[in-house]
Amino acid sequence: MAVLVGCATLAGQQSAAAPGLTANLFPIDTVAYLTGQFHPDTTTDFVRLPADISGERTMWLRKAANDSLMAMSAAARKDGLQITAVSATRSFRRQRLIWEGYFTGSRKMNGENLALKYTDPAERCRAILQYSAAPGLSRHHWGTDIDLNSVNRRYWDTAEGLRVLAWLNRHAAEFGYIQAYPEGRTEGYVFEPWHWSYRPLAKPLLTVYLSVIGESEIGAFAGREMVLQLPWRRSFVAGVNERLK
Ligand SMILES: [Zn+2]
Repeated sequence: MAVLVGCATLAGQQSAAAPGLTANLFPIDTVAYLTGQFHPDTTTDFVRLPADISGERTMWLRKAANDSLMAMSAAARKDGLQITAVSATRSFRRQRLIWEGYFTGSRKMNGENLALKYTDPAERCRAILQYSAAPGLSRHHWGTDIDLNSVNRRYWDTAEGLRVLAWLNRHAAEFGYIQAYPEGRTEGYVFEPWHWSYRPLAKPLLTVYLSVIGESEIGAFAGREMVLQLPWRRSFVAGVNERLK
């Protein structure tokens, strides 16, 4: 029920001040918010995840997304499963560190140095974009998206991983959570069993993003011009589960 109320509240406030978000809904600049150019501790709309879900690491989510995650985790626990967060809100700066790590080869992707494997930087950007968002393009900026349990693909093939995924597929939507990058899409990142979006906020935010964020709103990072030559909005922003559009 809380999910429906949250959705109606956001939709109502948003339509009153479309296409941006109102200051009282989000007390910072819309472009800064959607591209991750802010810190969550500057607004009461974000809260820190409880230690039992974050494993004592500092992680932030929009308050409604956090409340629903706590309820979902408690429900899973009753069914004998553990749901924890391995990544939540990521700033532009954090996403740039991850992206540029792959781009320069200092960070390995699936054990590989992509800077050595793909000497053509445009080809390298396309390779990174199979698995990782460029800064400014990530749903993790919004505080609505979360990576659960493990970003290691092998975990999701274990008996535990399969049970958790089956539980999420069956129950997550009851808590407003939708898998952002399921199998069967024709655009964007490969299948990510771990990545879930809090739909009541994420769906309207995607609409706003697509109406206000263009090339000039995306900050600087290595390979930026090559990423922006791709159909980045269609593939890497809108290339999500149809239920999130
Ligand atoms: Zn993710």
